[in-house]
Amino acid sequence: GDGPADLRVDGLQVRYGRAVTALDDVSLTVPAGGVVALLGSNGAGKTTLLRAVSGTLRLYRGGVTAGTVTYGDRSLDGTDPVAAVRAGVVQVPEGRRVFGGMTVDENLRAGGLGRVRRDADGGNAAARERVYGLFPRLAERTGQRAGLLSGGEQQMLAIGRALMAWPRLLLLDEPSLGLAPLMVERIAEVVREIHAQGTSVLLVEQNAAMALALADHAYVLEVGRVGLSGPAEELSRSDEVGRLYLGEG
Ligand code: ATP
Repeated sequence: GDGPADLRVDGLQVRYGRAVTALDDVSLTVPAGGVVALLGSNGAGKTTLLRAVSGTLRLYRGGVTAGTVTYGDRSLDGTDPVAAVRAGVVQVPEGRRVFGGMTVDENLRAGGLGRVRRDADGGNAAARERVYGLFPRLAERTGQRAGLLSGGEQQMLAIGRALMAWPRLLLLDEPSLGLAPLMVERIAEVVREIHAQGTSVLLVEQNAAMALALADHAYVLEVGRVGLSGPAEELSRSDEVGRLYLGEG
C-alpha cells in the first residue's frame, strides 16, 4: 500500500574505510506514521544513519559492517538510493543541495523522476500541486533560478523536491541549519503538515528545541552510539538534554 510502515534499525555498525567507525550497535525505530528526532553534536553519526537508511552510504565510501535496516517487510540492507525511493524512503540532504542553475519548477520535476506513484496520465501534476500548496512561496517563484532563492526558500525547495517522489518516510537532515528563527518556525509548521498528510518523519537536528517540539520520540547519538532515548516530552525535561542541547545552565 501507499501508507507508511515501521522503520527498524537494529544493531547497526557503519564504517568509513578501516579507521572510522561512525556508528556502533545503533538500534532505533520510526513507527509507521510517527515523527522521530535524532539529536547529537557534530560528528555523532546522525547523517551517517540517514545515509545507511537511504542507500547513499556508498557514495561517501561508507559501508554497513553489522546490523540490519528494514522498512515494513522489506530489507534495506545494502540498498541503493533508487531502491530506497521505490520503497518510499526519501532523504532531504543537509545543506539543501538544490540545482542552482535550474528553476524552481525544474528542480521539482527532477525530484519526481524516481517516484513510484504517478498520475493517471503518467505525469506529476498532483505531486507539484501538493508541494506548491505546502509552499506558496515556491508557487510564486516557479520560474526563478533556485540559486537566487533565500536559504529558507532553498530548504523549502529541497523538501519539496523530495516530496515529489511521494515518500512514505521522509528523512530530514538538519532542515533548520543556518535559518532565521521565523523561517525555522515555518519549516517546523510544514513538517507538521507533511506528517498530518500521512508521512512518517525521521528528523536529524542540532536544534533540539525545534526537534523535540515536533517529535513523539527522540534518540540522542553520542559518538556513534545511542545515549539517551525516550518520549520527546520526557527528553525535553531531562537535565542532561537541557544542559547539552537546549543551552540551559
Ligand atoms: P554533523 O552534524 O557534523 O553532520 P553528524 O552527527 O551528522 O555530524 P556524521 O556526519 O554522520 O555525523 O559523521 C560521523 C563520523 O563519521 C564523524 O567522525 C565524521 O568525521 C565521519 N565521516 C562522515 N563522513 C565520512 C566520510 N565520507 N569519510 C570518512 N569519515 C566520515
